Amino acid sequence: MKYISTRGDKTERAFCEILLEGLAPDGGLYLPTHYPKIAAATLARWRGLKYHELAFEILSLFIDDIPAADLRALVTKTYTKEAFGTDLIVPLRPLEPGVYLEALSNGPTLAFKDMAMQLLGNLFEYELARRGQSLNILGATSGDTGSAAEYAMRGKAGVNVFMLSPKGRMSPFQQAQMFSLQDKNIHNIAVVGVFDDCQDIVKAVSNDLEFKRAHRIGTVNSINWARLLAQVVYYFAGYFQATKTNDEQVTFAVPSGNFGNICAGHVARMMGLPIKRLVLATNENNVLDEFFRTGTYRVRSSAETHETSSPSMDISKASNFERFVFDLLGRDAQRTHALFKQELDRSGAFTLTAAEFARSGDYGFVSGSSTHADRLATIRDTHAHFGTVIDTHTADGLKVGREHLVPGTPTIVLETALPAKFAETIVEAIGREPDRPAAMRGIEQLPKRFVEMAADVQAVKRFIVENA
Ligand SMILES: *Cc1c(COP(=O)(O)O)cnc(C)c1O
Repeated sequence: MKYISTRGDKTERAFCEILLEGLAPDGGLYLPTHYPKIAAATLARWRGLKYHELAFEILSLFIDDIPAADLRALVTKTYTKEAFGTDLIVPLRPLEPGVYLEALSNGPTLAFKDMAMQLLGNLFEYELARRGQSLNILGATSGDTGSAAEYAMRGKAGVNVFMLSPKGRMSPFQQAQMFSLQDKNIHNIAVVGVFDDCQDIVKAVSNDLEFKRAHRIGTVNSINWARLLAQVVYYFAGYFQATKTNDEQVTFAVPSGNFGNICAGHVARMMGLPIKRLVLATNENNVLDEFFRTGTYRVRSSAETHETSSPSMDISKASNFERFVFDLLGRDAQRTHALFKQELDRSGAFTLTAAEFARSGDYGFVSGSSTHADRLATIRDTHAHFGTVIDTHTADGLKVGREHLVPGTPTIVLETALPAKFAETIVEAIGREPDRPAAMRGIEQLPKRFVEMAADVQAVKRFIVENA
């Protein structure tokens, strides 16, 4: 399997060549040259596999430059009961008839990003050792991504993490998750400023190509292909739990922000997993819902981006979306380039032609959005009727999923975080604190390891040089 860019660079690269990369050199995103089609007999055989075995089967279709025995060892040590709480890794629980929750949030940081990031940590360590190299991961976070990256990379040989977060603006729980890590290779930098300041610093450092090369700066953001690939596995695992035979179809409802999670569902569907619909749920930041209703993709300014109670979906643009559009346009890289580079840069928006937009139905996508009031009502109602407390992002998925139910086809709502991470809104909805997993009790009281810094690019660079 080889990888190409969505913007026309046809250089075919192997998996390990793009593993440590973000964007392709032409500014596009990497995709496999084609999607392997899963034969009926293969799908039938996969039904009986344990999660790590299934992960190995799926990943080996896309990764042919890591020896099979090594890849198997990497996934086996990643997807364990110890890390994810159960042997099933992503257990399904029934809600009302025909509706299930698939738990993707029982990893170390209680959000679905662990599903991919835990594997990425092991892949990075393996590949860096093979090359005799090291990497300094630089990132900005206001929540889930930063902690998932730190828990994936802690203690990994050859990797340092420098994570910027806006001082005092994360929830105390999220901050404690990150700052309580004592590992020598994890560096928390609390920036006096807002999230955009943190992001601007990361951009400035990454755009200094000389510095980037000299100090081996890398990222782990959501456009990384390996992250997306790891997420394909749980669509298969959820399908097998919700069905008895492979002639049944299911629908997935996906709380969405950067289009990473649901793009993995798109890949699973392209491989032939019997997915009827992919229901895309947004919060008040409805960039993607607008697209799937109208064919217009309009990036929002920071002023137009709302701070909501499902904060991990607060996006102004969806960084993985170009991958789907490339497929939708019949993999026309020239057209993709024209839309994402020329049109978006010029006017901040593009509109597909009617004929192009009409094709989006062929890919199973439907969409909807959810507000703070919807979230509260859904959390309250789910608690009252089923005795289950769900998190705010999952509530968005459930609310929109219910608007697209198809009789006879089960809907699987992806549970993307545990309610313990968003206690304030849970209290507002049901009048009490959500339960916390035992390992997370009292983490706010643990000693914190972080440095505070002004929003100053030079200061951050100096810190990297001194601590890399
Ligand atoms: C990141 C995140 C999302 C959004 O996922 P995308 O891949 O960006 O669409 C949804 N819910 C939670 C809890 C998250 O952390």
